[in-house]
Amino acid sequence: MPFPRRAGVGQPASAGRAKFRDSFPLRVLIQMTLQVQTWGHFVGGKLSAAGGETLDVRNPATGEVIAQVPKGAREDADAALDAARRAFEEPKWRRMDPSERGRILYRLGGLIREKADDLSRLETSNQGKPLRESKADVFYAAQTFEYFAGLCDKIQGDTIPVPGERLDYTLREPLGVTLHVAPWNFPFQLASRSVAPALAAGNTVVLKPASLTPLSAIRLGEIGVQAGLPPGVLNVVTGDGATFGKHLVESTNVDGVYLTGSVETGFQVVQSMGKKLKPFTLELGGKNPNIVFPDANLDNAVKGAALGAFMNAGQMCWAGSRILVHQSVHDAFVEAFKKRVEGLKVGAGNDPNTRLGPLVSAGQRDRVHKYVNVGRDEGAKVVMVGDLPKEGDLGKGAFLTPTIFDAVTPDMRIAKEEIFGPVVGIQTFTDYADAIKQANATQFGLYAGVWTKDLGTAHRAARDLEVGMVSVNEYPVTFPQTPFASAKNSGLGIEQSLYAIDHYTRIKNVSVKLD
Ligand code: NAD
Repeated sequence: MPFPRRAGVGQPASAGRAKFRDSFPLRVLIQMTLQVQTWGHFVGGKLSAAGGETLDVRNPATGEVIAQVPKGAREDADAALDAARRAFEEPKWRRMDPSERGRILYRLGGLIREKADDLSRLETSNQGKPLRESKADVFYAAQTFEYFAGLCDKIQGDTIPVPGERLDYTLREPLGVTLHVAPWNFPFQLASRSVAPALAAGNTVVLKPASLTPLSAIRLGEIGVQAGLPPGVLNVVTGDGATFGKHLVESTNVDGVYLTGSVETGFQVVQSMGKKLKPFTLELGGKNPNIVFPDANLDNAVKGAALGAFMNAGQMCWAGSRILVHQSVHDAFVEAFKKRVEGLKVGAGNDPNTRLGPLVSAGQRDRVHKYVNVGRDEGAKVVMVGDLPKEGDLGKGAFLTPTIFDAVTPDMRIAKEEIFGPVVGIQTFTDYADAIKQANATQFGLYAGVWTKDLGTAHRAARDLEVGMVSVNEYPVTFPQTPFASAKNSGLGIEQSLYAIDHYTRIKNVSVKLD
């Protein structure tokens, strides 16, 4: 795997230390140390040298440390914002012929495609997800850059009819320096989803990936420069959320904030905007209902429900973690669903047969595992219980096998809280009104699935569900050209699609008296 240039480790040992190096186990220790590479921040078009405190980056399938990244300090955050500010004011990037800017972004998408194998392996080794899912994420990121590349020369204003001898028109301008705070569940794809429209609109960017999964974002910075982004247009800095991320959000050197993360973090980010008004987009959590009406194609519903609940080991904002099944098809659904889930192979992401990789960390696995006990204590019926494998290869990683609860009621914690792991709850409904009432009974409003052959039921449900996205007869689905929207506490603002551009630009009105 092509790691970026090593910074500060792996220097040849001096001759005077040779006899120690050759002794065991010190020799093994040195070799192990040499394998752990230290990555730098990517600022001003290059990787910074190592120095200061670092964060360990682990492979969740093995628990091994695979790299170290800087535990960003205030000065690192400020330096990245300064680099982005200089690149914005320069103003080569924002004044560039927009079709040229589009060509650079298109090249970036192409380079991601060329490097898809390496990027996918890197993502799987850091995040844990099956390689086929990492590949899908990487291609989706490429497609996102290509989609927004095509928009660069179509970001335009209006002329507005006004009284008198006047010409009134609007300009749509970039905001300036945009800050993108990304989560660990789709590290490369979600960073790209937010960075691509910002760059298309002529902003310059500081990206902070989650501290558990920073590696592919740093690679994105490098690929951006290879594609032709001027230095400082795309900067990537690593560090924790609570202090480093907060400092970035607070900075008056930021002109727009784009968070993808949990509801709690969303509230924190809004509270720590500092002494400058900045537009923001929040893409937050979900507790999404997947509703199976009695006339649904049950085979397809079972397949879609299993994918929706267990893809990425259930660590998805749009996970269909609540399956609402009509009472008349409940038993048949549960039997087929259990059989389907039993067939999902749990294993390391680089095994081609794996369908369920490890969770992102041991901490996340333990947090999710607690919900297995919560569900039992609340009286949900256990159809399949998640286990923490202790033996063999799985014993080393953050693995948790799937849990299916049945007879879940809307008041239970497992029906209301975002578990973010391979735990799904089945609820039963009696009629349409009951389905919608149960579906809407959470603080979240991200995504909903509807399974029915009846057009009236499908479109009525699409209208009545309090969510940002609905899919009918498949789960889940999105494209760079469709809005990733939300309702209630699942977020504010839109990523993807033409609508996203509104969040990365500001409108200026110009009124001209025609003397
Ligand atoms: P998280 O909220 O813990 O962290 C997200 C990012 O925010 C990380 O980079 C983190 O370091 C940073 N952060 C944390 N606290 C911060 C603070 N006070 N100030 C600034 N930055 C801070 O989320 P996570 O655990 O990485 O990801 C899982 C969550 O993300 C889930 O709730 C999931 O539903 C949500 N998510 C939403 C979407 C969406 O599009 N709606 C997509 C993916 C994930």
